[in-house]
Amino acid sequence: MTQTIAFIGLGNMGGGMAANLLKNGYAVRAFDLSEDALAKAESHGAVRAASAADAAAGADAIVTMLPAGTHVEAVYTGQVFGAAKPGALLLDCSTIDVATARRVAEAAQAAGFTMVDAPVSGGIAAANGGTLTFMVGGSDAGFAAAKPILSAMGKAVIHAGGPGNGQAAKICNNMLLGSTMVATCETFAMAQKLGLDPQTFYDISSVSSGQSWSMTSYCPVPGVGPQTPADNGYQGGFAVGLMLKDLKLATQAAASVSASVPMGNAAEALYQMLANRGEAQRDFGLMIEMLS
Ligand code: NAD
Repeated sequence: MTQTIAFIGLGNMGGGMAANLLKNGYAVRAFDLSEDALAKAESHGAVRAASAADAAAGADAIVTMLPAGTHVEAVYTGQVFGAAKPGALLLDCSTIDVATARRVAEAAQAAGFTMVDAPVSGGIAAANGGTLTFMVGGSDAGFAAAKPILSAMGKAVIHAGGPGNGQAAKICNNMLLGSTMVATCETFAMAQKLGLDPQTFYDISSVSSGQSWSMTSYCPVPGVGPQTPADNGYQGGFAVGLMLKDLKLATQAAASVSASVPMGNAAEALYQMLANRGEAQRDFGLMIEMLS
């Protein structure tokens, strides 16, 4: 029997994800506050719902892809819990703070639902292409139930542990990414000032101990390494504003457990400076221009 998924939050990421559920044979009941997002989902074959509660009613599973923890908590506690059928599986794929993810998962359990947090790695292209990586926090049973649904939208689905651990994995990964990107940018800028040709330095460092994903898969120097947003004026890619959001979540989480994260704090301050320059929309490799 066709499984019905309620999909709430059909923006840049959720739109493509819902389309992939439809392509993989799921029926989708869509809700978003934006008329444009709803119309687009309808054009892909989703059924329009009048509210988040209306979307959730009768669905076998509810997927959310919302901006932040406040939206997620409001949608679940205010709408979904009261409307979803008993036993419906709840999957929040948004990137939110660990504390809210754990609080909502606990409330879901108290209301009789199984919930997983399943944030993603990969941007809009991966959402459209169905090649996201999902990091999942929740029980073994929750993970097993979520896996087929998430597999219809991604290439990798990894169990990170109990509730909130998907979010923990996501912000730890992105803190590492933000830090290595800053380090890569300041290093290329310094290398050039010391008279090293950027391509020559890339050829050396990419096969030496300074190598990282930020250098060899996402080189911030135009014309060096594989094709990246640097080759397109830092358009598209992973926006400075989204990196800053994730770094803020990471440093807040660090403070909550007294973890010492000097590199994460520095990366947050530097991405804040870049955003303050009006560059929140451009790709995060743009950091090299600020440090050159
Ligand atoms: P977006 O702003 O494009 O989409 C969010 C959607 O949620 C919007 O369409 C908005 O109208 C809708 N919405 C907000 N409140 C709502 C509510 N109460 N009920 C129903 N709909 C509501 O954002 P996005 O880029 O799609 O990102 C979504 C999530 O994915 C974020 O948590 C983000 O951090 C994360 N993420 C984004 C990317 C990326 O590259 N864009 C990559 C990885 C993770």
